[in-house]
Amino acid sequence: MTLTASSAANARRVHIKSFGCQMNVYDSQRMADVADKEGYAATDRVEDADLVILNTCHIRERASEKIYSELGKIRELKQARAAQGQGTTIVVAGCVAQAEGREILRRQSAVDLVVGPQNYHRLPDLIARARVERVVDTDFPAEDKFDLLPAPSREAVRARGVSAFVTVQEGCDKFCAFCVVPYTRGSETSRPVGKVLDEIARLADAGAREFTLLGQNVNAYHGLEERRDTDLAALLERAANIPGVLRLRYATSHPLDMNEALIRAHAENDKLAPYLHLPIQSGSDRILAAMNRRHTASDYLRIVDRVRAARPDIAFSSDFIVGFPGETDADFRATLALVDEVGFASAYAFKYSARPGTPAAAANDAIAEDVKVARHAALFERLEALRLAFNRACVGKRFGVVFDKRGRHEGQMIGRSPFMQAVNATVPAGRIGEMVEVEIVEVRPNSLRAQLVTAPS
Ligand code: SAM
Ligand code: SF4
Repeated sequence: MTLTASSAANARRVHIKSFGCQMNVYDSQRMADVADKEGYAATDRVEDADLVILNTCHIRERASEKIYSELGKIRELKQARAAQGQGTTIVVAGCVAQAEGREILRRQSAVDLVVGPQNYHRLPDLIARARVERVVDTDFPAEDKFDLLPAPSREAVRARGVSAFVTVQEGCDKFCAFCVVPYTRGSETSRPVGKVLDEIARLADAGAREFTLLGQNVNAYHGLEERRDTDLAALLERAANIPGVLRLRYATSHPLDMNEALIRAHAENDKLAPYLHLPIQSGSDRILAAMNRRHTASDYLRIVDRVRAARPDIAFSSDFIVGFPGETDADFRATLALVDEVGFASAYAFKYSARPGTPAAAANDAIAEDVKVARHAALFERLEALRLAFNRACVGKRFGVVFDKRGRHEGQMIGRSPFMQAVNATVPAGRIGEMVEVEIVEVRPNSLRAQLVTAPS
């Protein structure tokens, strides 16, 4: 991720590495804002950093274990810097910090501070204390961190590009049997409407154009406005009216919270992208029940039909877990059948990973690793075929893209299609950050090539 650069040549330096989901990317930006205010310049070179923050992910075992191998390398850097008389403060933040707390200090002696996701506003004090003693802060505080975190500078917003994330909801009360989120992020809370809108307006004023409203369960959003509950559809409508906002997205949603107003928003809110990431996890009702998802495959298909009726060109994306305890070949075939029936434009497939403290971790009908691997490969192949077919069907289509990132070739810029595909085109410098109409001319493995549509003179 790109962080703010400070002009002071001898400023202290911070290196932040983000793992996992978009919510962690947003949190890392907010921690960068805290560090910036404390006088730390951002650096991409970990070996130059006086302060190293790893923003961690606990969702699957591999994500969690990756942190310890990363910490092993950083420990060597810390020793090398110490030999030259330079101090390094090492911080573990994010969901591994929340879940493992003091255990991280025990497993890795180089770590100075462990801080959970609700306490980033306390970082300046915690870092000062961590220079004297090793510190763990994984409380769920009474104060709201969003009220106390500093806003990003205009330079920081510009450096992050035209796409901005804004967390509007945190935590989850759904307790899917496989998932650590309710334990690491706590119970579901929504930020007040006014504060979310102020944040969007500030980012738009500094140049952000595309906004993804984030939450572990974003469509459960119910922020207060003058003591009245406001749902996600109403929040999106208000956000669409903010000057500078060109496109809106939201992630991640739960099927149970796809209310009528949100479905209607896909027909009525013209800033809302025709793209919906709606995880289902499995196509088998038996497995969905065991996962405590509280919806069936046909409930999901009915939602897909209703959203498509509201917005016929919508692209669907999803998450799947293969090899959940007790999953049979027949259950897995039901997943493949559902994938074909929906025709996802893109989706993620994960091998089930038992997470300590979750109900599913106690199951005694675990699936053998080779079966998981084979099912994952089969599902991935099917999802890839659908993704490429969706991409191919885009050739000749026209739509709006906001370009901002440099491509590999001279003059080439990259932006996102309404359906979240990477699009590259040659764009005049004066049109960067504008919504420009393009026509897709070629499909590449991971992107679409486009030409600008010029209005007839
Ligand atoms: N809130 C979202 C939902 O309702 O599905 C997603 C949250 S989670 C951060 C992202 C994805 O990770 C999930 O949709 C699920 O597919 C996957 N995931 C969560 N726990 C997992 C586990 N124990 N093993 C494998 N994949 C897991
Ligand atoms: Fe985890 Fe999503 Fe289920 Fe909540 S709804 S427990 S975040 S998978």
